[in-house]
Amino acid sequence: MTEFLNKLLSWYQANARDFPFRRTTDPYLIWLSEVIMQQTRIEQGVPYYYSFVKVFPTIHELAGASEEEVLKQWQGLGYYTRARNLHSTANEIVEKYGGRFPESYESLRELKGIGDYTAAAIASICYRLPHPVMDGNVIRFITRHFGITGAVDLAATKKEIMEVLEELMDGVQRFPKGYNASGTAAGSPLGEASIGAKHFTQAASGSAKRDRSGGVKMRANVGDRSSLAEEPSHNSLYPGKFNQAMIEFGATYCVPRNPECRECIFNESCIALKYGMVEKLPLKKQQQALKPRYFHYLVISVWGMKGVYFRKRTGNDIWKGLYEFPLIETSKPVTLPRLVNSIEWKKYFGKTPLKILSQTGSISHLLSHQKIIATFYSLEIEKPSEKFGSLIHPKNIHELPVARIIEKYLEGVRGDK
Ligand code: SF4
Repeated sequence: MTEFLNKLLSWYQANARDFPFRRTTDPYLIWLSEVIMQQTRIEQGVPYYYSFVKVFPTIHELAGASEEEVLKQWQGLGYYTRARNLHSTANEIVEKYGGRFPESYESLRELKGIGDYTAAAIASICYRLPHPVMDGNVIRFITRHFGITGAVDLAATKKEIMEVLEELMDGVQRFPKGYNASGTAAGSPLGEASIGAKHFTQAASGSAKRDRSGGVKMRANVGDRSSLAEEPSHNSLYPGKFNQAMIEFGATYCVPRNPECRECIFNESCIALKYGMVEKLPLKKQQQALKPRYFHYLVISVWGMKGVYFRKRTGNDIWKGLYEFPLIETSKPVTLPRLVNSIEWKKYFGKTPLKILSQTGSISHLLSHQKIIATFYSLEIEKPSEKFGSLIHPKNIHELPVARIIEKYLEGVRGDK
């Protein structure tokens, strides 16, 4: 284990990408960056991080903003629940803690919108508490290196991965401070990793060490069982850095396709490499087919007036709080004549005279569990009506927070209205 950690941290110090949130331990900034980067490529997320910090430099500005302002800043990132939770958590922290983040994992975890991952990131980076983070990058690296072959969407496999991470984190806690990192990589070489985390608990010898809550408990030594005095270290080794290094290695080196295993610093101990399983791990259960949803957007204008109608999405569904055109949803594809004869269409228009000006082809948009297939119908009615929502003048449309699919449509027609 010692050698594993030493290699990892040496690699991180030489190869870590430089991001603004890697140069701070301010919990507000760490929190912002973690929430923005979840389910987002880091290159895509960084501009959002900058714009959030610019518009909401402290948690007080974020809490004081309206939900629409926050959603507007978030526009294009997807998974809009994160933005709404970000906003409500900011308010909770301001109201309950006067704007100061709580300093324990448990109290962070109690905040709405802060899950295991984000709580562990803040606790480890800002308060140096020994809580490992487990994201897709870490899962890939760990399952490959330690040969964990269970489906990673199963709770039992996640638990197994977390146990490995906790053992590694215990090793981080035992790194002596101030050790000269240029010293020899002492200790016996890393023994060959066995399938799963079990090898960590084999041949245990007792030693006292800190548990995750900071108390001291007796437990087995793990890994190569070097004595503390022999262990190499980096002066700056701490839980947050370990977590960042694990994520970075998974994200940039142990990548999903064709990692450079021959050059990898872990190639002697990597189980997946040894057994030709690199491309097979991490293993997932059979992927469920994405549920298709057919969205028919009615882009309604009024004869002789500028603008089109928008409504705010409500209810417990995707894109809640964002704006869109009046919508008819179907579970199957339908032709325009069928749509016009549908109950939903009649509910909207009744006997209202209208002209159908144009219709787009199908535009697909993938979400994590759903596939949206949208068609936009450009319609003109004679008189304004509030039942379609609010008529928004073209010069004000850009102020509305909208989903990416609507944004793409607007980009396509910009200048036509
Ligand atoms: S040898 Fe390949 S699969 Fe194993 S840790 Fe390195 S990059 Fe990942």
